[in-house]
Amino acid sequence: MIGQRRIVLEPREVPLGGVRNMNVLRVLPHRNLPTIGAWCFLDRFGPADTRMRVEPHPHIGLQTVTWPLVGEIRHRDSLGSDADLRRGQLNLMTAGNGISHSEYSIGDGPVPLDALQFWVVLPESARHGAGGFERHTDLPQVALAATRGADAAATVVLGEFAGTTSPATVHTPIVGAEIAVAAGSTVRLPLRADWEHAIVLVEGDAVADGHAAVRNDMLYLGDSRDGVEVSSVDGALLFLLGGEPFEDEIVMWWNFAGRSHEEIVQARADWEAESDRFGVVEGHDVRIPAPPLPDVRLMPRGRTI
Ligand code: MN
Repeated sequence: MIGQRRIVLEPREVPLGGVRNMNVLRVLPHRNLPTIGAWCFLDRFGPADTRMRVEPHPHIGLQTVTWPLVGEIRHRDSLGSDADLRRGQLNLMTAGNGISHSEYSIGDGPVPLDALQFWVVLPESARHGAGGFERHTDLPQVALAATRGADAAATVVLGEFAGTTSPATVHTPIVGAEIAVAAGSTVRLPLRADWEHAIVLVEGDAVADGHAAVRNDMLYLGDSRDGVEVSSVDGALLFLLGGEPFEDEIVMWWNFAGRSHEEIVQARADWEAESDRFGVVEGHDVRIPAPPLPDVRLMPRGRTI
């Protein structure tokens, strides 16, 4: 049991995909909180006019969840997938023991782009398996009854929310939902008391559990709640994430999620050796080299909040 929390996690700016490519705002992992449920990573790239060129790079032990807000993203991977993704659609890539992919904006010039990218850490039962890629263009919607103003509309992106289940493949009890709260409205988001949760304000204004949210910050709620009240003056777009607290200690470094220093070292060596483990993303001349390992042993980061 974690208990109820009301902790604001602020994002930090991080360069992504090589020199002068683009900066992203990263709110997870946080130095005090490695996971929320099995969610282990959240970046927001944009809004920006940018030419996105994230060249082929590897992943192990996690799923990437790409959720565009503005613009289109082209995904290619070592399974041969080649998919353009736009607002309302989900790309879900499962790394298993190893996969590689690239992400580009469409066209040669800068275009308006804004998206959320999450990672979900895989449990022992799924992390050694084959990779996979799914896209979902028809995710379930659920209405949340307003206590004031208009009902809210939720899209169930991953897992289960308000009695509705996403068709996307998951390996742990989890929720990811986008929620649009209408101007002048108050709604209660139903939560599972045995799961931990957090809310990110994507756009607009919102007061959640009495906290006046700031765009891109994350309000961590802990567990032991059966709901949280959210209100908005001018309307809000929120992302709710949560799930059963993830018990394994994970070691995350670069694009890898493992359980030990040795696993990460091996994955890095395999990428650098162009091993079959990560396959090949067709149509590229370059790939992103792994950064040097730090001089210290990679250790799991514990939870301190
Ligand atoms: Mn990636």
